[in-house]
Amino acid sequence: MPKRTIEDVAWRGKRALVRVDFNVPMNDGGEITDDTRIRAALPTITYLSDHGARVILMSHLGRPKGERSEKYSLAPVARHLQSLLPDKSVSFCPDAIGETAEQAVAALADGAILVLENVRFYAGEEKNDRDLAKQLAELGDVFVNDAFGTAHRAHASTAGIADYLPCVAGFLMEKEVGVMGEALANPEHPFVAIIGGAKVSDKISVIENLLPKVDALLIGGGMANTFLSVQGYDMGKSLVEADAKGTAARLLELAKQHNSRLLLPVDVVAAKAFSADAEHAVRNVDAVQPDEMALDIGPETVKQYQAEIRNAKTVIWNGPMGVFEMPAFAKGTFAIAEAMTEADATTIVGGGDSVAAVEQAGVADKMSHVSTGGGASLEFLEGKLLPGVAVIAEK
Ligand code: ADP
Ligand code: MG
Repeated sequence: MPKRTIEDVAWRGKRALVRVDFNVPMNDGGEITDDTRIRAALPTITYLSDHGARVILMSHLGRPKGERSEKYSLAPVARHLQSLLPDKSVSFCPDAIGETAEQAVAALADGAILVLENVRFYAGEEKNDRDLAKQLAELGDVFVNDAFGTAHRAHASTAGIADYLPCVAGFLMEKEVGVMGEALANPEHPFVAIIGGAKVSDKISVIENLLPKVDALLIGGGMANTFLSVQGYDMGKSLVEADAKGTAARLLELAKQHNSRLLLPVDVVAAKAFSADAEHAVRNVDAVQPDEMALDIGPETVKQYQAEIRNAKTVIWNGPMGVFEMPAFAKGTFAIAEAMTEADATTIVGGGDSVAAVEQAGVADKMSHVSTGGGASLEFLEGKLLPGVAVIAEK
């Protein structure tokens, strides 16, 4: 179901009210420490401006909980955007609704860009309040949703607003939904999914959604321990979720029903403590000592997983293979990232920590798609229809 996009609208003179995800990290001095999300919105902003739209940008930043707070002002983001777009006019409005905002919008020339203040300064935003949605909608002629990162939230500026304005997708939204949607609906086979991270309980729905579609599901990270424990291995002090064992057993059964191969580690890097300098050794999964915990997949597992990945035509990855924040336990995660770059395949990475790992490994630009949405990409992979995607009109 292809969605309408900004390319389906004649923009000259129109007010494009664009929801972007400018929720960027800042240090105590108010400096932006990572502008990836701002850069990700540039293609949409530039296109709209170049086509003569009056571009009005709205976003949230942090969790101000419905109250004004200088710390969460988008003013620094507007300044940064101006520096990224030196040939454009970028201004900032200290409100997101009301008279000041209306005047600021009315003053815009064709092609000019206005950043509205943080939409979460208004209590109605996270409640998807109709009045707030309506007041925001008054500032635009067409609503453009380009905030994939918040598309899993039904808020006034991501979903409610579409009751009052026609809605189209921006380029980032189009790419996120297009690449991941196509991979899930129409994957080229072999289709391999790699799922890791800390807990099984976080990833049950993703595994359930992917198992019927994939040829192989490779499990790593802390959650592998719960699966291995179900299979009778003693994982020592590893993170094993006692109350997720039933679920893990059910997922192993589900894999069989769907004829999908579910692969578990055959060896791990086992450490005496959860710390960067802990004493550690490679162990086969049947040889983890009672005082050890598995913090990464081992080299034999890496070899097996790499072979699956290199042979694949579609690879989706969510969840690190180990405690990659500590160099001693990052090898498995980085090896998987590397293998994905070598595969002649559509390669997709989603999830906050997985994306951070791929960036640390320096291979983000070698993937077909690195999702900008943490929670949103997880829910997308779970097969959920995201509220911010649902409101976009179909072609
Ligand atoms: P994502 O954000 O990509 O969805 P998760 O949040 O599910 O990923 O998981 C990431 C976390 O899982 C990391 O902080 C990592 O340290 C942790 N983790 C990975 N492997 C293990 C392990 N063997 N034991 C404990 N924690 C682990
Ligand atoms: Mg995470």
